[in-house]
Amino acid sequence: MNVELPTLDKARELLQKYYGYPDFREGQTQIVESLLTGKDTLGILPTGGGKSICYQIPALLAPGLTLVVSPLISLMKDQVDALTAMGIPAAYINSTLSGKEVNDRIRAARRGDLKLLYVAPERLELDWFRQEMSELPISCVAVDEAHCVSQWGHDFRTSYLAVSPFVESLPERPVVAAFTATATPEVTEDMVRLLRLDDPSVFITGLGRDNLAMSVLRGENKREFILEYARTHEAQAGIIYAATRKDVDDLHDRLRQAGIAAGRYHAGMGDEERDAMQEAFLYDDIRVMVATNAFGMGIDKSNVRYVIHYNMPKNMEAYVQEAGRAGRDGEPSECILLFSAQDIVTQKFLIEQNPQDDLRKKGDYRKLQQMIEYCYTNKCLRWAMLDYFGEKHDHKPCGNCSSCLDDRELVDMTRDAQIIFSCIHRMRERFGVSMVASVLKGSQNRKVLQYGFDKLPTYAMMPRRTEKEISELINEFVAEGYLMLTEGQYPVVRLTAKAAEVLKGQREVMQRAPRPVQESAAGRRRSNRYDLSPSAVNETVFEQLRLIRRDLAQKEHVPSYIIFND
Ligand code: ADP
Ligand code: MG
Ligand code: ZN
Repeated sequence: MNVELPTLDKARELLQKYYGYPDFREGQTQIVESLLTGKDTLGILPTGGGKSICYQIPALLAPGLTLVVSPLISLMKDQVDALTAMGIPAAYINSTLSGKEVNDRIRAARRGDLKLLYVAPERLELDWFRQEMSELPISCVAVDEAHCVSQWGHDFRTSYLAVSPFVESLPERPVVAAFTATATPEVTEDMVRLLRLDDPSVFITGLGRDNLAMSVLRGENKREFILEYARTHEAQAGIIYAATRKDVDDLHDRLRQAGIAAGRYHAGMGDEERDAMQEAFLYDDIRVMVATNAFGMGIDKSNVRYVIHYNMPKNMEAYVQEAGRAGRDGEPSECILLFSAQDIVTQKFLIEQNPQDDLRKKGDYRKLQQMIEYCYTNKCLRWAMLDYFGEKHDHKPCGNCSSCLDDRELVDMTRDAQIIFSCIHRMRERFGVSMVASVLKGSQNRKVLQYGFDKLPTYAMMPRRTEKEISELINEFVAEGYLMLTEGQYPVVRLTAKAAEVLKGQREVMQRAPRPVQESAAGRRRSNRYDLSPSAVNETVFEQLRLIRRDLAQKEHVPSYIIFND
């Protein structure tokens, strides 16, 4: 007998009939097609990319039931409500139901009255549930937020490890489909291995949605920036993520004081208040949600016009997930990351606070380092993001990110680079960024003197810049691959082969002109106010004299900074 497989045309028809969408999106087509042919499939689509439809449509075309593993009760309920409203027979089973309700739903599934059944992964560990499921014709197990199975992901959940034993306990192995927005190689590998996907087709698509204008802003007065931004975008929905509850409360209060319809959301609030806030945001009663990363998983609000990060998140996965909540409707939206060096301190503190084994910790530090590099890169941010996730791209600048739109001219920074690299070399590549900056600035701090670094020829060779500016420059060189940082809590700066070429004069370093601190938007406003107190004036004059003397002194010594074989 000739069994005819359902076709893509049929799938498209159902998409139009139930969802009212004219066609599948980029990425969805291949995933749906793969599932229709009965192949295990791993679909990696950005947040808002439309993963649900990838298994919901095949579920309608499959002979039996599709069991959906979903991590959050609220998420399940929303999805099932939406499906039911469209006339698709779906249900969930979770701890909010009574025993009778659970039985009713299992009975409905047995009668073939359900196409989709949503459950939390913990349920798969229960013997009685496995028993019940083994008596149902399960065609497909769809694992949503599949990165939760990996320790490398940002929401590891032990119970996800129960998925594969569950699948194997079924009398007939169903097709397994896994979905996530996280595409790092480690996580991808883990998903295939730990979910025991059988020769899966893997589809990765559209990480950098081009309706999102990405920015990283350094040196802003963050609070002023946010108040100003929220004020000028008052009519639009936005999310502001902050790292701590205290910052959330604080920003929220300030926004409200400024008369902006802001809400807040963090794990320190009661369930009721949180639910109310979420509702208010969904229905546009409040415009701006100030939240910790507890907010957002499964939020289906398509018209979020901006996502601002008050702090740098802990890694790129988290960032992409959170920033990706902007512009799900495809309309132009902004993702702004406000970075300051203090964010690095905070994230390291959080890693240290978190009890975990050394391997895990090392991984966290490495991911943090990559996040920091993203904040310092001069590359197109879309490239940087796609490169991080190992996605192929056409090397065309997006023309729409803070790097692409950076109008500072490129200047030859070869000499500064040589000074910095040479200093690192002379310090035997054994110290961190701030120590190198102290030496270059000419700091008299105890550690500098104790190591005798004040005797190095590179000591105080960058007196004009603040230590902060020197650190920024070093971090930019890390991001550009001239330098690297070792792993761990106290990373040490090392030279790469690229730096050696610069030292030997074989490579030029072109960088954006460093932005003076006052040039930040907030700073520009401030710079109209001069501090004319006598002590301030004297200090400036004194500093200028010192610099002139230093310059003269520098003319005398031959460029001794280009010495690399001592
Ligand atoms: P994800 O789980 O990948 O974050 P969802 O499945 O929640 O994304 O889908 C995000 C939004 O995109 C939803 O509002 C969904 O209805 C919409 N969507 C999905 N596929 C399509 C499509 N082919 N055409 C138009 N809208 C779509
Ligand atoms: Mg989803
Ligand atoms: Zn760009």
